[in-house]
Amino acid sequence: MLKLDFHPAGRHFLQIPGPSPVPDRILRAMSYPTIDHRGPEFAALGLAVLDGIKKVFKTTQPVVIYPASGTGAWEAALTNTLSPGDAVLMYETGHFATLWKRMAESLGLKPEFLGLPGVEGWRRGVQADMIEARLRADADHEIKAVCVVHNETSTGVTSDIAAVRRAIDAAGHPALFMVDTISGLACADYRHDEWGVDVTVSGSQKGLMLPPGISFNAVSRKALEASRAAKLPRAFWNWVEIVEMNRQGYWPYTPNTNLLYGLSEALDMILGEGLDNVFARHQRLAAACRAAVQAWGLETQCVDPAAHSPVLTGVVMPAGVDADAVRKLIYEHFDLSLGTGLGKVKGRMFRIGHLGDCNDLTLMAALAGCEMGLRLAGVPLRASGVGAAMDYLAQHESAPRLKAVA
Ligand SMILES: *Cc1c(COP(=O)(O)O)cnc(C)c1O
Repeated sequence: MLKLDFHPAGRHFLQIPGPSPVPDRILRAMSYPTIDHRGPEFAALGLAVLDGIKKVFKTTQPVVIYPASGTGAWEAALTNTLSPGDAVLMYETGHFATLWKRMAESLGLKPEFLGLPGVEGWRRGVQADMIEARLRADADHEIKAVCVVHNETSTGVTSDIAAVRRAIDAAGHPALFMVDTISGLACADYRHDEWGVDVTVSGSQKGLMLPPGISFNAVSRKALEASRAAKLPRAFWNWVEIVEMNRQGYWPYTPNTNLLYGLSEALDMILGEGLDNVFARHQRLAAACRAAVQAWGLETQCVDPAAHSPVLTGVVMPAGVDADAVRKLIYEHFDLSLGTGLGKVKGRMFRIGHLGDCNDLTLMAALAGCEMGLRLAGVPLRASGVGAAMDYLAQHESAPRLKAVA
């Protein structure tokens, strides 16, 4: 047995932007016995989660569930809809957008990467006018798909998906529209149908509060039709057979039964709280976190007030301070995990996750750990971020979380 007792007394603070902490309720649900995936009980579970997850994507169209990490669902989105050599318009919001583009290259597609230059380009969301201009110039409709990341987990910047849809429509372009909301789903408002998205990609270990291991494609009718003509090779990822068998609550292969128990529980929690309440809770905690960063006299990676992520906050270190050295100090002293800087922002910033199973005191503990660590690292702080965050939370009271027992 792997030695897992390396944590000292007290709990570990997993404040990376995914995997996020898994609530005990979900862990317990996942410990139910694994059942026959061809039996009648399984169909009830399958149908329940396939129905519930549609509400989270805000779609009435099929949602495909894969026993894979988010990366698998990225590949499924591309291979089901496109053919070798197809031109794809992608937008560089950050590291995850870059990884999706690299995947498109490996699959034999021809991605074109739009974006603002340098690290500054990683501080704002998708510029929909750039997409519109590029699509207008594509008179022959060579571009087969537009792919963007909704919540860029490497930076803490969100993009306006409805604005990208309007840009595609304004250009009168028939390209498919694909969105990665792997870290945005169940944290930030998302509307697959209303925003006319053809394929939405998501994963389990972020806002859905599950362990890593399942991922999703929400699929429009137009995308399903495109899959008939698409020539990229696919077998495991092929939607058609999965969607067909899902009608009865089954899968063509052995699904991840225990993660589906967990998903069923997560859906009860999220839909029970109400999606709008879930989104408001995330917004409030994110704003409190930004109040802390501002009080410290530090910058957030996101510089557009309309684009701040409700999922995570990217904290930029002053020049000459290595963000990873600060992170390491915080981890070693306070048993608190923060997200590292990825790609172009490595060493420049760290990321505080405030998603999923997170409440006022979870955030306050994480911010206290950051503040103590920043002091330990000798980073000059203007004022107490912890105090500023407490003030913000007090001034923006949430409804009482617990009902008093009479
Ligand atoms: C986490 C994440 C991914 C990668 O998902 P994996 O489950 O690690 O394969 C892709 N895109 C975004 C935006 C993410 O947050």
